[in-house]
Amino acid sequence: MATTPIPQCELALISGSAGWGLRIPEDVGVTGVRVLQRGLSFETPWGPVDNWQVLEIDGALTLERRPRRVLNIFSHGWPLDVIDHSVVRRVGWVLGHARVKKVLADSTCGSLNRALLPGDFIVPHDVLDLGQTPFSTLPGRFRFLCRGIQLICPAMASVLERVAVEHWPAPGRVYGYGQGLVVGHTWGPRLETPAEARALMLLGADVANQSIAPDATAVREIGACFVSATYSVNYVDGVISGEWGEMDRLHERCGPAAVGISLRTLASISLDDSCGCQAFRRQRPPEFVRTGWQDPLDHERLPG
Ligand SMILES: [Zn+2]
Repeated sequence: MATTPIPQCELALISGSAGWGLRIPEDVGVTGVRVLQRGLSFETPWGPVDNWQVLEIDGALTLERRPRRVLNIFSHGWPLDVIDHSVVRRVGWVLGHARVKKVLADSTCGSLNRALLPGDFIVPHDVLDLGQTPFSTLPGRFRFLCRGIQLICPAMASVLERVAVEHWPAPGRVYGYGQGLVVGHTWGPRLETPAEARALMLLGADVANQSIAPDATAVREIGACFVSATYSVNYVDGVISGEWGEMDRLHERCGPAAVGISLRTLASISLDDSCGCQAFRRQRPPEFVRTGWQDPLDHERLPG
C-alpha cells in the first residue's frame, strides 16, 4: 500500500462549513499564514482520506513567537461524491498518528434555542450524541477508558471566545464556554424535522449540527484537546414557524472572519496539558484487560 508519510504537528484544524469553499489562507485575509504542503492524502486501515494541507503560522502571531505548524483537513474529511459518515474514523486515525495535541474544528449550526439568532458565534460547552460511537478508532473495547466529561477543552475555549469577541462581525454576538450551550448531533445530510428539533430541545440541546460530536469523540479517543468554533446560519425547521435563516448569505458574509478566528486561536492557545483533558482518556491496567473465558486468574479459582 503506497502511503504518504503523516507530518508531525501539535495543532490541527478540522475545517468545515464555517469557511465553506474558502481556500486557507488565501481567501481569509489573515497575513502570516502560509501553505507548506497541499493536496495530501493518507492511507489508513479503513482506506484513504484526502484533502489535507499543512499550514505554518508565522512566529509574529504565535504565543511563543516561534512558527507553528497546523495539519488542516478540508470539510471534516467528507468525500464530495458520496455520503460517508465513517470518514471521521480515518481523520481521527491520521490526527493520532500526527501526534496532534490540540484540535479546533469549525462549522455552522442551526439554532434550536430561539434566543440564538442566525449570525451568532458559539463556543459550545458540551455535546449531545446518544448514538455514539459507531466509528471508533480504539483498538478493541477494553484497553482504553474514554470518559465523556470535558469533551470541549476549557482552556482552548477560553482563548477562542476572547479571539471571537475581538473579530466576530456585528451584529452577531459571541456565546462562550461559560454560557453552557449544548450541541445536539444529527448525521445528515438531511436536516432535522420539526419533531427531531423538539426532541433535541427537550433533551437540552441549544443548536443542532452534523460534525461537532463525532469530531470531538474522535479527538478524545486520541487523547488530544478539542474545541468547536461554530456559528448559527438558520433556525432548525419548526423552532419558529415559517422562519428560515439566510444560510448562504451568512456563509458568504461570515466565512472569512470565522476561519480567521480559527487560525488566530490556534496561534494563541497554550500547548501545555494544564487543562487536564488528557486525564479523561487513559489506558487500562493490564490486569483489567481480560481476553476471554480462559483468563488465568479465573482458572486459579477453579476447585480441584
Ligand atoms: Zn484541554
